[in-house]
This record gives sequence, structure tokens and C-alpha cells, in this order.
Amino acid sequence: MAVILDGKSLSKKIREEIKNEVESFRKKGFRNPSLAVILVGNDPASEIYVNNKRKACEKVGIRSLFYHLPEDTSEEKLLGLIYELNQDEEVDGILVQLPLPKHIDQTKVILSISPEKDVDGFHPENMGKLAAQIEDGFIPCTPLGIDILLRHYGIEVKGKDVTVVGAGFIVGRPLSLLLLWRNATVSVCHIHTKDITKFTKEADILISATGVPHLIKADMVKEGAVVVDVGISRLNGKIVGDVDFENVKEKASAITPVPGGVGPMTVTALLLNTLKAYKKKFSHLISTTNP
Ligand code: NAD
Repeated sequence: MAVILDGKSLSKKIREEIKNEVESFRKKGFRNPSLAVILVGNDPASEIYVNNKRKACEKVGIRSLFYHLPEDTSEEKLLGLIYELNQDEEVDGILVQLPLPKHIDQTKVILSISPEKDVDGFHPENMGKLAAQIEDGFIPCTPLGIDILLRHYGIEVKGKDVTVVGAGFIVGRPLSLLLLWRNATVSVCHIHTKDITKFTKEADILISATGVPHLIKADMVKEGAVVVDVGISRLNGKIVGDVDFENVKEKASAITPVPGGVGPMTVTALLLNTLKAYKKKFSHLISTTNP
């Protein structure tokens, strides 16, 4: 039976640490960190994600400033708001919930966020820092959350054969770069890969981020592999991942559940990135008060 990689309880522990750190800054007279969250439209899944992120912020003492804009908001108006938030000294992080309505150019929006406040890590400057292995950028939240989860469980990726299924810009692609940074041998599969099983069967660590429910079956997994499931889909009214959990858990040495695995770690990574943005802003003062 596989070890369950419990992202929920690890998140609880890390969030407690973040809360303590925020409190210690408050005691030294600093303001609370803050995250501006922008949601355009009323997509129900996006509303749930945004609410979860805002609640998690408030619990650790990160102020969340919520901008809920109507579906028909113009691109110009959204860019104007981001411009203002970029200038606002009281705002440490800016998160625009994706996907955006079709009439808004997502790339333009990502490019408009100041890289210093881009806690989602999607700006090309931060993606570039990830590729170039420069520590002071922001790593996208899901890859960062997975990295922290694997480290916590003592799962070494260095020298391992890691297969990532899914090459999306939010998860698979930045995750592959992070795994390379951690010295794994990385194979990346996507919809055009001729035979994903060829790659999944070889993997010491298999990570799936496609959004295709139960794509990964037990016969596609090597005995004793570590399996990380990023996917979130609905199947017969239930939230399921990319992995056929019940069968794969019999073969894997460790596995993340859905829900309760990667999801909470993603939100925790967002809190860590926001704290990082805040600390960077005050670093010159922090170093003098806390030598
Ligand atoms: P995306 O649509 O940007 O990318 C999906 C990728 O999967 C693409 O590269 C595509 O080529 C590949 N793919 C699709 N079908 C495939 C198949 N049959 N075989 C091989 N590859 C296939 O999606 P995304 O934004 O990267 O998200 C992927 C999944 O992860 C979604 O279910 C999303 O909800 C979930 N997600 C979860 C979290 C979390 O915190 N747990 C965070 C972000 C995204």
C-alpha cells in the first residue's frame, strides 16, 4: 500500500508557520502583507478557487483585496486596475484568476503585472528566472507546492526519471523546468505524444497534470513509483484527478489523493510567494531590525 502524500496536513503546518512569521512582523511594527485578487465574471469553479485563496490569506494574516469585475469588463479597464495596483505601495502581490473571458487578451494581462508582484509566477520574467535557476523570482504555485510536498516526504528527485504528463503553461511546463533545476531527468508528454505509456512506465516519479479524469491507469505505472496527481475534474458528480487512484495506489510507493494532495499545496505556495514579495519589499529594513 502506498504512502499517502497528505498535502492537507502539510499545508496546515506550513500555514501555521506563515501566520507566526506574519505576527512577528506585525510585532516589529510592519504592516500586514497583502494580496490583490482579481476575478472577472462568474465562472463557478473560479469563484470557488478565489474564495479558497482569500480565506487562506485571511487565516494567516495576509490582507486580501478582492476585485470582482463583471464578465463584460473591457480589457482596458482591467489593465487600468492592474496599473493602479502595480503602483500601490500597500499591495505586495497581484493575482488575476484565469481563465479570463474570451474578449480579454490573457497574455497582455500577464505581461501587465509587475514581475515583483507576480505571485502566480506567470510573467515571462519569472518564467525566465525559473529556466535560468535564479532564486529571487516567483515559481508558479502548483510546481512550487509539489516541490515542497516531495521534499517534506524525503522524496529525492535528483537523478530520478520523472515523467510529467501535460505541458500546460500553469503546471506541466514550469514544473518540468523546476524538476530540471532539481537535477531530475525529465520527460514531458502532451496530447501529441505518440505513446504516453512508454514514458509513464519508465518513471520513478510520475506527475500528471492534464485534466483528463482517470487517464493514468495501474498498467501505465511502474511498480513502486511515486505518483503525483494534479488534475481536478468532475466525474459522476465527484471531484477526481487524472489518476485511477484506487488501482494505482496498490502499485505505487507513494501517491497524492484528490482532493487533499496538490490542491492545498498550491494555495500554500501562493501564501509563501506573497510573503516572499512582502519580505523583498522590506528586506532593507528587516535586515537592520533582524540581523
Ligand atoms: P492545460 O489545459 O493548460 O494543459 C493540459 C495539458 O495536458 C496540455 O499540455 C495537453 O496537451 C495535455 N493533455 C490533455 N489531454 C491529454 C492526453 N489525453 N494525454 C496526454 N496529454 C494530454 O491545463 P492546466 O492548466 O495545466 O491544468 C491541468 C489540470 O490540472 C486541470 O485539471 C486543472 O484543473 C488542474 N490544476 C490543478 C491545480 C491544483 O492545485 N491541484 C492547479 C492548477 C491546475
